[in-house]
Amino acid sequence: MTTTVVGARIRAPSERIEKPRDHMAVFEDSAFDDHERVIFCRDAHTGLKAIIAIHSTALGPAAGGTRLWTYESDDAALHDALRLSHAMSYKNAMAGLKFGGGKAVIIKAQDFKGTDALYEKYGEFVDQLNGSYVTAEDVGMSVEIMETVARKTKYVSGLSARAGHAGGDPSPKTSYGIFKGIEAAVAFQLGRKSVDGITVAIQGVGNVGYHLCRFLAEAGAKLVVADIDEACVKRACDEFGATAVAIDEVVAHKADVLAPCALGATINAQSIPSLQAAIVAGGANNQLETPEDGQQLSDAGILFAPDYVINGGGIINVASEYYDDADDDEVMRRVAEIGPRLTVIFEVSKDSGKPTNMVADEMARKIIADA
Ligand code: NAD
Repeated sequence: MTTTVVGARIRAPSERIEKPRDHMAVFEDSAFDDHERVIFCRDAHTGLKAIIAIHSTALGPAAGGTRLWTYESDDAALHDALRLSHAMSYKNAMAGLKFGGGKAVIIKAQDFKGTDALYEKYGEFVDQLNGSYVTAEDVGMSVEIMETVARKTKYVSGLSARAGHAGGDPSPKTSYGIFKGIEAAVAFQLGRKSVDGITVAIQGVGNVGYHLCRFLAEAGAKLVVADIDEACVKRACDEFGATAVAIDEVVAHKADVLAPCALGATINAQSIPSLQAAIVAGGANNQLETPEDGQQLSDAGILFAPDYVINGGGIINVASEYYDDADDDEVMRRVAEIGPRLTVIFEVSKDSGKPTNMVADEMARKIIADA
């Protein structure tokens, strides 16, 4: 493990910090979990402040998107980078990719200016890692920004798609994987061959939720949707005949499947007793507030599709683009494997009595350890 501070300004003696800080304890962070490297990137000229976390390169270059976000503190940004990077190791392993796990955050301070120069500088930092970290877009970033980053490094994916090659916005692929996962969960839990006539309650109909609505509506599912953004709700109702419900009602709404596609921690000690759905299967990262919530769902007879397995379609698209080894049809075929992969997890969970999130964690850890 090396912790590298890149771009730090050498302080004049008068500026020296006399007392060491007692916080920003990287190794003690609950999400640290033996990260290989953590790189702090600073460029005073452009105002760039970023943290790149490399959890594991056991399976290949550490891959995971860059998140542009406003944090309460630098510690909060570090914690987020570590948490997300660790999750990427598991997600990439379970998606069968030649990728380890990494993630980066760019800190969006009050005076932040998203200039080309800043994103180019960020690209230079990524490039200095010589391919041990591969980046792509995450919350707050876009294909256009990644194109700017790519002026300075080749270790970047999620760029504009070229005809006959994988690439572009990963969200529709993420949604397709979730759709295949819902099909698998419905078959396992309800003994139904398709989602035709099944009711799915979707919390959050942004990028992922919108495309999920499309796949489900085409297959004959009934949709119940909620979003804090009225325009997103209207789009889902107008285009797919979805029924709108209030944002505080969607989680406990009567439905066969609850698909959290907004933020994390939807499933927690408060929400679980109110759930009416037989299945929780959606795209949001970190749907369980705590790992114990997986056990609570299992005890309540609710089937949970582990989030980092069901939402792996986007990173499968990113990997196919990075290795340039598939066209769009092949990417869709690879993403569709999420269904059978989840069925294996459901079966192991049933046989072992362990909740599905624990089964997935154990499988991911084994894949990484065997590598
Ligand atoms: P998005 O921002 O496009 O959509 C999220 C939507 O949720 C927005 O429309 C927002 O208004 C809504 N929302 C926020 N809080 C809400 C609340 N309390 N109740 C109802 N709606 C609420 O983001 P996205 O790209 O669709 O991603 C959604 C989730 O899926 C995130 O957790 C993301 O990390 C995860 N994810 C996305 C991808 C991808 O390819 N985009 C891949 C893997 C995981």
